[in-house]
Amino acid sequence: MYGLDRKMRSSQQAGNAMIDSLMESMVRQRLREKRAQVYCADCLAQDLQQDPVEVRAAMAELAVREDFMAGGCPCGGTGLAYRW
Ligand SMILES: [Zn+2]
Repeated sequence: MYGLDRKMRSSQQAGNAMIDSLMESMVRQRLREKRAQVYCADCLAQDLQQDPVEVRAAMAELAVREDFMAGGCPCGGTGLAYRW
């Protein structure tokens, strides 16, 4: 029981990590292209035509690991901009 549960969880984690790294690279690239622009997750998701939930998760990851600063998105939400 424990072994099965652990196996399922580790394959799930591998799947998530793969999706995350692809999404993170898309998010990172777009924020780098638009350095002066603050994006919230919803606007960035719309721009990239991706799932806002996944974009939000990727942005949260990137905010921890990389040099982004928080700012106000033009839509009124809180977003991130690449720090240069
Ligand atoms: Zn926005």
